Parts: sequence; C-alpha cells; structure tokens
Amino acid sequence: MKFGAHVGMAGGVSNSIKNCMDIGGNSFALFLKSPRRWESPPYSKEEIETFHNLCKEYNYNPRTDILPHGSYFINLANPDQEKELKAYDSFLDDLKRCELLNIGLYNFHPGSDLGSDHTTALKKLASNINKAIKETNFVKIVIENMAGHGNLIGSDLNDIKFVIDLIEDKSRVGVCIDTCHSFAAGYDLRTEETYKEFWDKFDEIIGRKYLASVHLNDSKAPIGANRDLHAKLGYGFLGLETFRLIANDENLQNIPIVLETPVDKGNESEYGDEIKLLEWLIGKSKDDSEFKEKSAKLSKLGESERKDQLAKYEKKVTKKRKSENDILSALKKNNKKSK
Ligand SMILES: [Zn+2]
Ligand SMILES: [Zn+2]
Repeated sequence: MKFGAHVGMAGGVSNSIKNCMDIGGNSFALFLKSPRRWESPPYSKEEIETFHNLCKEYNYNPRTDILPHGSYFINLANPDQEKELKAYDSFLDDLKRCELLNIGLYNFHPGSDLGSDHTTALKKLASNINKAIKETNFVKIVIENMAGHGNLIGSDLNDIKFVIDLIEDKSRVGVCIDTCHSFAAGYDLRTEETYKEFWDKFDEIIGRKYLASVHLNDSKAPIGANRDLHAKLGYGFLGLETFRLIANDENLQNIPIVLETPVDKGNESEYGDEIKLLEWLIGKSKDDSEFKEKSAKLSKLGESERKDQLAKYEKKVTKKRKSENDILSALKKNNKKSK
C-alpha cells in the first residue's frame, strides 16, 4: 500500500521528498508553488536536478508515487471568461511544473459553477482539461471529488463521469476519491456493506480504471452535512473501521493514498504516526480485540468535536426545515386568498 501524506515544500520542492522520508511515507502530495499566489518564480535548474536525484536516492517513482495538489482557487469552470483564463494559466503552469519534475499525476479540485448553469460549467471544465492535455505530454489530470456545498462541481460522482465522457484522451484523466468529501457528500463508507456499495457505485458510474488516488481523512461533520472538515483517522464520524477497510482493500494497492488530516502546528511527525496506524490495520479483522480497543480510544478523542459539529448540523437542518415550512404556509395562505 502506498500510504503517505501531504507534506511541506518550504525552501524548495525537493524538500518534500525528505519530508516524506521522515514520516515513512510510500507516496506523497505537495504544492508545486505557493497555494496562495497566482504566480511563482520558475524552478531553477539545480532545484529540478536535486528533485530527480532525491527521488532516485530515496526510491520514489515520481510517475506513480507523487500526487501534487493544485491551488484551491483554480476554477476552470468559472463563468467569467477573464477569470477562467487566469485559472487556466495557473493550471497549465502546474502541469508543466509536474513534467519538469517527471511527476506523472496531478490532483485538483474541479471548481464551481458559481451559480451559472451547471452543465455549461461541466463542459467548460472538460474543454479546459482537453486543452491542457494537448499542451502537455504525459501528466495525468486527476479530478478530486468534493464535499458538495452549493454550486461545487464533483460532489456528485455523475459530475465527474460527465466530464470524463468529454475528455478526448482518456488515458490522461483520473479520479481522486477523498474519504471525508465522499462522506460529507452523502456517500456512506462506515461498514463493510456500505463501503462495498460505494465502490460498486463508483465502478458503475465512473469506472474502477479511472481511480488514480485516495485522500485519506476522517470527517468532523456527520454524513451528508456537505462540510469539508477533515479529522484525524478514527476521530471523526467515519471512524477507524473505514480506514481498516481501506488498509485491507486490494483494489487500492499501488496508488497514492494520501493523508490530509489536521496536524498540530504543522508537526508532520503526526502523519508518521497515522501511517504506522494504517500499516498496523493491514490484516486486522473487525472483531480483533486490539482493533476494537484502538477504535474506541480514537473515537473518544474526537467525541467533543463530533458533538459540536452534530449540534451545528442539526441547527442548520432545523432552520432549513423552518424556512421551508414558512414558505409552504405562505403559499397555502395565498392559495386560499385567490380562491
Ligand atoms: Zn482531498
Ligand atoms: Zn477537503
């Protein structure tokens, strides 16, 4: 299993390789440039060379083991053409950086329709991906599924299917499934049955062969809450069982499985502990007493945060229901009046 984490690249992208070594990762994610700025200086020749050398030295295959994460503000489906072009430039720059580093995968968020027509937005996204594929040579563009609030693209697996159907060179496109996002979007992964159902659905809608990577996060918010709130493994509403199922899923071998869980003050050694936990889960059955003990212990640690988030969610649902009822009764009143 290629367990790893999203590691830092401060001081130069090649530092990410050592950061991954330090936590015992077999794969990793990184930002290719500052995720808060549109433009960053190009890599120096030395930096690129160091990156290649360290990959060799530490035995990471950049084509399969490294999954950079695109900037969060890239929205290739932006209805504003000027903003769309700016996003595309940054996207293409990321892809070119991947190829300079010989990186074979690139993961990004599919963006938002920002209130415009959803189908038009999906087509726009697909056409930008097609264009970017033509302007690059080998990097696979990996679309991440989303937690799904409002106008976001990709919380429904059908969105991703729609986009992939429009991609001309399908060998250059893939999907990253984020466990927290899936759960927040309403897909259950908590038991053996629901976990299997989810992947069957994925296969039916999108197709197994497109699965390129997994983001591993527990969820602070309950199922269907549409909140993108990552929790440490076992602390959230998914619970350790989901990650036991993942650790023992043969279908997930040889693809990057990347932690994006919260760590205290950027302390990446906490990722090392979670990677060890994942490796420990391999071969464990759900009735194993040590597993049950561990699962209960981690769940306890996340209890108060889950309670807070559940209360927030319930408040939101009640408010929504109330406003729906208000609209309904207003309509009824109006109806009576017109009669
Ligand atoms: Zn993610
Ligand atoms: Zn997320």
